[in-house]
Amino acid sequence: MSKPRTTSTGSSYGVDHLPKIAYARGSYLFDVDGNRYLDGSGGPAVYCLGHAHPEVNAAVAEQMGKIAHAYRYLFSSDAVEELTDIITDRTGGHFPNAVYVTSGSEAVESCLKIALQYHAARGEMSRRRFISRRRSWHGNTLGALSVSDFRTRRASFEGSLLDVCFVSAANAYRPPEGVAPADLAGFLARELEEEILKIGPDKVAAFIFEPVVGAAGGVVPAPEGYARAVEAVCRRHGVLVIGDEVMCGSGRTGTWRALDQDGVVPDIMSVAKGLAAGYVPLGAALYTDAVHKTLVDAHGGAQTGHTFTGHTAACAAAVAVQKIISRDGLLDHVLARGETFRDELRKAFADVPEVGDVRGCGYFIGLEIVSDPESKTPFRPNLSVHADIGRRAFEAGLICYPCTGNVGGTAGDTVILAPPYNASEEELAEILSKLTVAVKDSVHAARKGEKL
Ligand code: PMP
Repeated sequence: MSKPRTTSTGSSYGVDHLPKIAYARGSYLFDVDGNRYLDGSGGPAVYCLGHAHPEVNAAVAEQMGKIAHAYRYLFSSDAVEELTDIITDRTGGHFPNAVYVTSGSEAVESCLKIALQYHAARGEMSRRRFISRRRSWHGNTLGALSVSDFRTRRASFEGSLLDVCFVSAANAYRPPEGVAPADLAGFLARELEEEILKIGPDKVAAFIFEPVVGAAGGVVPAPEGYARAVEAVCRRHGVLVIGDEVMCGSGRTGTWRALDQDGVVPDIMSVAKGLAAGYVPLGAALYTDAVHKTLVDAHGGAQTGHTFTGHTAACAAAVAVQKIISRDGLLDHVLARGETFRDELRKAFADVPEVGDVRGCGYFIGLEIVSDPESKTPFRPNLSVHADIGRRAFEAGLICYPCTGNVGGTAGDTVILAPPYNASEEELAEILSKLTVAVKDSVHAARKGEKL
């Protein structure tokens, strides 16, 4: 008998055996045993147009029929140029410059390098340090991991990571002790400024943050006024602002850039997941003309890039995805329907006090589960409530994205929903009903587990 094949990637829910995928249509995936799964989180907030969209598939096939990939440092292409035009347009002209890569981590890595190169180009070689936030996730390459505060994912690599400073998370549900909600944005901005002054402004390259935290916090939008306040601090000290929109960008929050809703234009930003919606791997580091000019004047351009930079078929996929999103008015839909969907979730959990917080923006929605809603005390971490919810939902045919927020009992267990922008009303209703059952059953089991 042949040995069962194992996966090197592990499982989101801690199960030993992963079902084998057969095919997918729209919001549903089907495994080889005929089981059906509704993609309530677009995997990890990626598949924003669902699966096997005929127009995207046709666009990729057409590009593949011409050429799959023309090496970016020898050729331009219609796909790369059209995508850059689309991004420039969607970002109000602020980001006409892009380094296209193949993942979110590479996009963040490129952002960090562009920031360092910018300061080098200006003769400020002392600006080498990055400031990031606690409870953040920016990716798995060494630089991106260095600016991530995700203890379990960092642990094996400590000692080889960059020396990064971390300031508090911007989390209105779990503010630093003694800070009133109305003072939160100001408090966090002051904390950032103190950190810059402590390090020495001439040593700080950039501040990187997720406008809406994803995997490390279970969808945490920053408090009102936060982005503008930290931007002002950074500008005062010549520190570049990097917005990591790998997860919350490309329309996930109902605007193409999440920071658009704060009226903030960072110097550099990363996008990935929803850009080509998972049809072909694609990410990008985007930067303003001011940054671009500095890099061009000193070094002829950004000194970062890879063999698959500007992959032609990936860019063709992204062009098709972005055209469908605007043609079908999906951003406005996501913004408005996301709000009512969160209301529906709150109603569904009205009799489940353990659902301590339902939050988010657009189709980027997080639930935080706690043992005691008054004190916000989490369930015991070893109960793995988030994974249990994910597993129960999966078994019932719903994909959601559980997050290990409850590290050492520091926050509640969280679950992310990130439906396709074009999910039907019936599909949204199915997400709601299946998630409600999974959460209620899981909370019930956790209550019993706590008594043991
Ligand atoms: N930044 C953020 C905000 C992310 O959420 C992620 C992935 N979840 C990354 C970077 C890394 O992206 P990737 O997994 O594609 O490398």
